Amino acid sequence: MWAHSKESLEKLTPKQALEFLKEGNMRFLTNLKVNRNLLKQVNQTSEGQFPFATVLSCIDSRTSAELIFDQGLGDIFSIRIAGTILNDDILGSMEFACGIANSKIIVVLGHTQCGAVISACNNLKTGHLTGLLDKISPAIYKETATKVDRNGQNLTFVNNVSAINVHLTIGQIRKQSNILDSLEKEGKIVIVGGLYDIETGIVSFYDN
Ligand SMILES: [Zn+2]
Repeated sequence: MWAHSKESLEKLTPKQALEFLKEGNMRFLTNLKVNRNLLKQVNQTSEGQFPFATVLSCIDSRTSAELIFDQGLGDIFSIRIAGTILNDDILGSMEFACGIANSKIIVVLGHTQCGAVISACNNLKTGHLTGLLDKISPAIYKETATKVDRNGQNLTFVNNVSAINVHLTIGQIRKQSNILDSLEKEGKIVIVGGLYDIETGIVSFYDN
């Protein structure tokens, strides 16, 4: 399997990019991974890269975008941070990926049983993590379905907060980045959310 070229990326629509990721996750689930020669891909991508997708996901060791979407070298701009939160540098990375390098889709991917979200739900305060977890608190306040046991031990609550966090993060991207918002309105990119289930390997994409 070859990495994308400038020409193949130019022809690709945001909708097709989403389909590529869905198909990749299906291959991952059915253990039908594409047979890639990664060393050949090193050579093939040595003079340039044309990644079709940008994925913001958690640092969690079980949520590597390349693995769960069955992609190779040169396919994905992978942005990873605990709790799938947003900051200015991440927005800058996304603007590079889509505005300069023509990536066609941004996926904001939360996951179930997220340790960062669990810590935020337990109101953990420690070192530099405090400021990071503060960015998850709007999603905790917005979760109103859970009336009792609103803490990190309640995984239903935790997973609800993760899903809300994905939606809020997408809203922040559109609001805070004129570049990305315009690209989406022009139909050049699409910004979609999803949740990765660490028990099944399934990525569920949200309809915006
Ligand atoms: Zn996580």
